[in-house]
Amino acid sequence: MNIVLIGPPGIGKGTAAVKLSKKLNIPHIATGDMLRENVANKTELGIKAKSLMDKGALVPDDLVIGMIKERLQRDDCKNGFILDGFPRTINQAEEIAKVVKTDRVVNIQASDDVIVDRLSKRKVCEQCGFTYHLEYIKPNREGICDKCSGMLYQREDDKPEAVKERLKVYKEKTEPLINYYKEKGLIVAVDGSGTPEEEFELVLKAVS
Ligand code: AMP
Repeated sequence: MNIVLIGPPGIGKGTAAVKLSKKLNIPHIATGDMLRENVANKTELGIKAKSLMDKGALVPDDLVIGMIKERLQRDDCKNGFILDGFPRTINQAEEIAKVVKTDRVVNIQASDDVIVDRLSKRKVCEQCGFTYHLEYIKPNREGICDKCSGMLYQREDDKPEAVKERLKVYKEKTEPLINYYKEKGLIVAVDGSGTPEEEFELVLKAVS
């Protein structure tokens, strides 16, 4: 099954996708993670993307589309995949529809207040990328990753100014995708304001 998760930043797409990927045994493909890896490795793509990402703007469509098309061609995507953070524009959705079909789109929703609160409490491992939340998904030792003992940090784009920009960009560029997929009969809405466990159960139901 080819699944797309849509929703504002911080809604928990990544956390739900990690669990869904284990449950369905299909890869979790997060364009944000792929871009951050490029930034860390100082690739040509990473160098072009960094300043845009830091301020909460989108990376140009052609760069992201090229990266994702290459990823979807790999063998592990044969039985399906979970896209997290892609597509983010109508153009991206149209481009990807030329190479793969989408079976289900899960639209995870919550109020701006919930999102801002979530992002301000999010911490990420600088080594393995695992995402914590200081209330719901707490590390055992403060500031240290349970999985790999890496240091936890706050993403540059989780700081208040960038969060404002990301929410604006989401409303302008990504929200129109909800109607786009609604017209194709692919969308299922899910409440993302509960705990990560509650959210995962709803996402699982939406793809079952
Ligand atoms: P995320 O981890 O999904 O919140 O993504 C972090 C940042 O990566 C976004 O704010 C964008 O700057 C960039 N990014 C991730 N996915 C995309 C995409 N599909 N299109 C454009 N930019 C993206």
